[in-house]
Formats: sequence, C-alpha cells, structure tokens
Amino acid sequence: MTRLQKKLLRIMLGGILFLVGIIIGADNQWIKFSVFFTGFIVVGGDIVLKAVKNILRGQVFDENFLMSVATIGAFIIGEYPEGLGVMLFYQVGEMFQSCAVNKSRKSIAGLMDIRPDFANVKRGDAFVKVDPDEVQIGDMIAVKAGEKIPLDGKVLEGNSMVDTSALTGESVPRQVLPGSDVLSGCINMNGLITVEVIKEYGESTVSKILDLVENAATKKAKTENFITKFARYYTPVVVVLAVLISIVPPLAAGAALSEWVYRGLTFLVISCPCALVISIPLSFFGGIGGASRRGILVKGGNYLEALTCAETVVFDKTGTLTKGTFNVQETCPVGMDGKKLLELAAYAENFSNHPISMSLKRACGEALDTARITDAEELPGHGVRAVVDGKAVLAGNARLMEKMNIPYYKGAPVGTVVHVAVNDAYAGYILIADEIKEDAPSAIRALKEAGIRKTVMLTGDSKAVGEKVANDLGLDLVYTELLPGGKVEKLEALLSQKSEKGKLVFVGDGINDAPVLARADVGIAMGGLGSDAAIEAADVVIMTDEPSKIPEAIKISKRTISIVKQNIVFSLGVKFAVLILAAVGAASMWAGVLADVGVTLIAVLNAARALNVKQ
Ligand code: ADP
Ligand code: MG
Repeated sequence: MTRLQKKLLRIMLGGILFLVGIIIGADNQWIKFSVFFTGFIVVGGDIVLKAVKNILRGQVFDENFLMSVATIGAFIIGEYPEGLGVMLFYQVGEMFQSCAVNKSRKSIAGLMDIRPDFANVKRGDAFVKVDPDEVQIGDMIAVKAGEKIPLDGKVLEGNSMVDTSALTGESVPRQVLPGSDVLSGCINMNGLITVEVIKEYGESTVSKILDLVENAATKKAKTENFITKFARYYTPVVVVLAVLISIVPPLAAGAALSEWVYRGLTFLVISCPCALVISIPLSFFGGIGGASRRGILVKGGNYLEALTCAETVVFDKTGTLTKGTFNVQETCPVGMDGKKLLELAAYAENFSNHPISMSLKRACGEALDTARITDAEELPGHGVRAVVDGKAVLAGNARLMEKMNIPYYKGAPVGTVVHVAVNDAYAGYILIADEIKEDAPSAIRALKEAGIRKTVMLTGDSKAVGEKVANDLGLDLVYTELLPGGKVEKLEALLSQKSEKGKLVFVGDGINDAPVLARADVGIAMGGLGSDAAIEAADVVIMTDEPSKIPEAIKISKRTISIVKQNIVFSLGVKFAVLILAAVGAASMWAGVLADVGVTLIAVLNAARALNVKQ
C-alpha cells in the first residue's frame, strides 16, 4: 500500500467515525468523546507526533504545532466535532496539495527525462548493454533508432537525424554523419549510428545538465529567504495573539471563556503559512524548469530574480553576436605560397579552441599531424605561438606582431587579420571574415523593448571590425581592441555606472572571458553545448547559440517573479482577512481550515503555471 493509499484509508476511517459521532448524538458525553477522539487519533495522530518531535528538536512553531494545539484545544473546551473535523479537513487538503506538488515535480522531472538507462557498448565482436557509467573514453557504442544517446561522442558510422529538443528547445532535428559530434541526452530518430565515446558519463552533457538543474534549487532567491525568515517570526507572533485573544477579554470584561478560547484556536488554524512555504520555492523551480525546456539553463532562483532587474547587457563579439566561424577571404603570403601560409597558421593554432583557430583548421582542410608541433602556447587577446617542424611560428593580430617587434604589413584591408611570422620574419597575413548571427539584430531590439537601458559590446578585435558590427546591430556602446584584462576593467566601469538596483548581465562564449563572466551580476554563456568552460563559469547557460534567448530568459524570469508576487499578496491577503474575521468571532474553525486549504491549493496551482513557457 502506498503512503497516499494509507492516508486515504485513515481519512475514510476518520470520516466514518465522525458520522457515527454525529448520529449517536449528545446523550452520553463519554461515548461521544471516545468516538470523536478515536477518529482524531486515526486521522491526526501523525500530525501530533510530528509536532512533538519538532518541539523536542527545538523547532516549536510550525504548522503541525498550530494544528495540534488548535484541535486538541477544541477537545478540551468540549467542541469534539470541530476537533476531529478540522483535522480531517486539514489532512484532505494536505493530500490534495501533495498531489499537486508531486504533479508539478513530475513534469519537471519529465522534461529532465534525459538520463539514459543503458549504453550498447562493443565488447569483442558483440554489443552488450551496460550502465552508461561503465563506458570508457574510446569505447564504441551503438545507438539504435529511438534510443537516447547515452554519452558524448563522435559518429563513426551511420547517418541519422537526432532530436536535440530536450537540451536546446530546438524542435528541428539535426542531421549527423560520420565525423559529427553528438551529445548525450539527444534522441537518435531514425538510422543506426556507431559512436566513439569522447567523454565519460560523469563529464558528458547529460550529467552536467542534470547536476545543474538539481543544484539550482539550493541557490535561493532573496524572496525565498525572506519567506523562510518571515515564517520564523510570524508563527510565534500568531501564537501569542491567539493566547491574548483567548484570555484577555474573559479576564478584562468577564466574557465567556470557552467562546474566546474557541476564537483563539480558530485564529491558530487560520494562521498556517502553508501556501507561502510551499508555493514560493515551487514557483522558482517551475521557472527554472520552464526555461530549461527552452534551452536556457539557470543555475539558481537568485539569478532568475537578478535577471528581472537587468539594466545593462554587455556582449562579447566573437561567437556571441557573430557566428565565430570565420571564412578565409584572402591570403597574402610573403616568401611562400598561400596554401603553405594557411597550413603553418593551422598547425600553430592546433591546440587552441578559439573560434579563429577552429576556422583556420577547417580552412586548411587536411588532418593535422600533431607530431610536427613540439611546443604551443596561447596568448590571450593576441594569438598563438608554436614550434612547427622546428620553426617558431607566430599567428595573431597586429598587437602580437608589435609585441614581438616584427615589422608587418599595415595596409591589410578592413577585417579580422591573422598575421603570421616564422622564425621572427614576417610571412604574410590571412584575412578572415565573420558574420553576424541571424537573430542578433532582433535580439538587440527585443532587449530594448524589454526595458534594457544600455547595450554594450566588448571585443578584442580591431576598431574597424568592432565598430561596424556594433553599428549594424544598433548597440549603444562599443569598446574595441581590448585584452582579456581590459574587458574586466571596462566591465567594472560599467558596473559602477549603473543604478543601484539595476543589474549588469554579461554574455560571452566562455572562451577566454571566464573572468568577465564571473565578475558580472549575471554571467550568461553561449553555446553551452559541448563547451565545459562555459557551463562552469556562467550563471546562465544558453544551450543554442542564439542571442535571442537572452530577452526570452528575461521574459521568463519576469513572469516567474510576478507569479511569486501574486502568491505572496494573495495568500497573505486572504490570511489577514480571515484572521480578523476570526478575532471578531465571525469565522468558525471550519471556515479557517477551508480558507487555508483553499489558498494553498490555488497558490500551488498558480506556481505550476511558471513551468509553462510559451514560445
Ligand atoms: P573577442 O573579444 O572578439 O571574443 P578575443 O578577446 O577572443 O576576441 O580575441 C581578440 C583578438 O585577439 C582577436 O580578434 C584576434 O585578432 C586575436 N586572437 C585571439 N586569439 C587568437 C588566436 N587563437 N589566433 C589568432 N588570433 C587570435
Ligand atoms: Mg571571445
């Protein structure tokens, strides 16, 4: 028998005893008492026990205490039907409430249903089903149509469509071919694919996301903390008031004691702060769940709350507002041919994961023989240095050439230029160009509409390129030719310019801007898919690369906070109204418990709305 069924049985038994008690009437007080009190123990024994346990642990004032005192008090003043009936009502309410809470928990768990159950791993010639935890890097796994991809990997064979919607909110399936990267948590839709595992389960995307969502609940928003504190002071105050109501009028004016004790007890029943205590965290949980459904991972209620006050949004350029896939426009070699220049640059860049490096490697076209590289170093904001075939190769911007005292060609056309030097002699440049992301202009417009005061771009790229992008997008401010440290300085300056309540949001791709991400009020990383650094450094991760998710995240956060506020105002409002009615004797204990259960249910249902995020 489940806990729910047991509870239901107890409630039914108590209900029958309640009816029996009413029917046998008032002839014998003792029989009447025994019937009602037996019912009370069946229905509410656990509540009284919990109250006693909590008192022993030093936590006196909770809802169990309030209900126990109120109902036992009713028995003492001879109101047996009230004593049992109120407890009965309360338990029915609790049951409904736990069903509602369970239901919204489940739907969050359901959308987080990305945990794979098994992996078909190749052992010898056959494939065997094992726990994803047991699979190692380099193992081969087969993923059949309809199965979840259990670990991150690279496709070796097969050709299929994968559904990434659980991770990104993107409903259009993505095609994968041999060589494509696939992420755990996606669903393989049609063909059979064989995948070489590149990350252990614990490091795979699916585990990272699950951890993130599970931990999100522990980072509490200010509002949540306020509620906890509020409940701590509120309950004792209510108990003192109830005592005063019960004894002051009879002592002072000689009013009927039992009448006023009844009012005091009613006051206690009404004062349970269940609605607040349950619905506020649930709303935040819903908001976080709803956002992750849209490919936006928020690491805690506090960030959701901060997003609603966003005033300044600062963007990194490459990979954030632009695609970060540079195409080679022109090569201008000195003393070698263009292909050789590109090859040297690609080799030098081999160990970097900067978007520029990725693009040069792609443009080079051939698989690189890493044995030819003996030494490699990344110089953030400048470029790279490496030893290729025994020659010292430098690849990077004009600043790098200046730093190394290498005379370079200054007449290169406007664009992102990668200068190359071999053994300290200039070897020419490669001109590459990036494109603005399709949804970037609309994202900037939506941000303005959402009330963002200032949009800013920080970039390490040249003045000409940076200003062109900023102009095309209609950004308010742009700072160019910044080193990573310079980005932090500019961010500090922007932080000091904003209003006290306003928040600064920084959006970056997580590659070499982790310090800036960490310094902002809310750090948002783009393209969480695949990039570990981003998932770790940021407060919010956008799984798709789309800037338009930022206004969307702000919208979701505003909606969640407004649901939270509605719940606070509504439940406190009703509470205070009924409390006053009880104090003047216009509300019975029945009305009190009905109001409490009703308000809690409505608040919980309202909280569940936070989960539904419209397109
Ligand atoms: P952004 O602010 O646009 O993201 P970064 O701070 O990452 O740019 O880099 C700034 C500039 O430094 C780039 O525009 C490029 O000129 C140079 N640079 C950085 N990393 C590399 C690299 N791996 N290869 C070549 N140039 C690089
Ligand atoms: Mg960058």
